[in-house]
Amino acid sequence: MTNKLASMTRMKYNYTLLIIILVFTVFGFKEKPKTIIPDKKLENTASALTVNQVLNQIKQNLTCEWGGGPIDTIKTGALDNEVTGIATTFMATMEVIKKAKAQGLNLIITHEPTFYNHYDDMKPLKNDPVQQAKLKYINDANITIFRFHDYWHKTRPDGINMGLINTLGWQEYGDSDQMIFNIPKTTVEELSKSIAEKFGTSTVRVVGNPAMSLTTVGIVPGAWGSDKQIEMLNQSGVEAVIVGESREWETVEYVRDMNELGMPKALIVMGHADSEDPGMEYCAEWLKGFITQVPVKYIRAGNPLWTAE
Ligand SMILES: [Zn+2]
Repeated sequence: MTNKLASMTRMKYNYTLLIIILVFTVFGFKEKPKTIIPDKKLENTASALTVNQVLNQIKQNLTCEWGGGPIDTIKTGALDNEVTGIATTFMATMEVIKKAKAQGLNLIITHEPTFYNHYDDMKPLKNDPVQQAKLKYINDANITIFRFHDYWHKTRPDGINMGLINTLGWQEYGDSDQMIFNIPKTTVEELSKSIAEKFGTSTVRVVGNPAMSLTTVGIVPGAWGSDKQIEMLNQSGVEAVIVGESREWETVEYVRDMNELGMPKALIVMGHADSEDPGMEYCAEWLKGFITQVPVKYIRAGNPLWTAE
């Protein structure tokens, strides 16, 4: 009897224990997340970084006022999109977009346009198969493209100039405001070859006497147009000017005439992409200084031109 009683008591005890464990398992685990999730700290660190937040941080870190305008705007995507990673580039080419997508970088910060004109105006090529296919790829991949042009030049130091000077290794020969450099004595040919080597391009083109010796060089990166390029050619002491791209019937012909008129100068056309790519590599480094929540990477667009030897 006592044994039976004892075993019944033990059974009752076991049943009670089982019920307690069951109740705890069902309700205990259900309740737990509720007490963890509302933590404010968790919300702050794990919450989504939006395109708008990235743009606001950029604006705060520029030395110049943000004056808006039609150029530095988002061209695809939306301000409230969640950013998983940032790619900086000279130009959002199809190749660059594919590389960004493969790396999970869904915000592309491009210096130059995506849709083939300065304003990224899509109307002229509205029914164009290339523009349509590019836009479809971007939209399918849910990629936001922001153009960072005017204010990357306006901030001090000019971001594009800084990248270019760093690649040339000319930091001690001049500054990023003036863009006039007093380099060790060289010739037009040697200087042109060293640019081709440093930027990995075979399409550097030159007007002027290759044997002319020089020490003072002006730089007008990108495609600023003949006004600025001719102004630099006429700065006192400047013997050669390096430009990104130039219309062949403007500055190029001006320099041909300079030489014929007894004013020997050289024009080195290094290519638009090569002259501004390093400035967007520098942009990635700059962004990393204040954007730490997502990866920031530079993707080189490069120069698509090649020459027939
Ligand atoms: Zn530029």
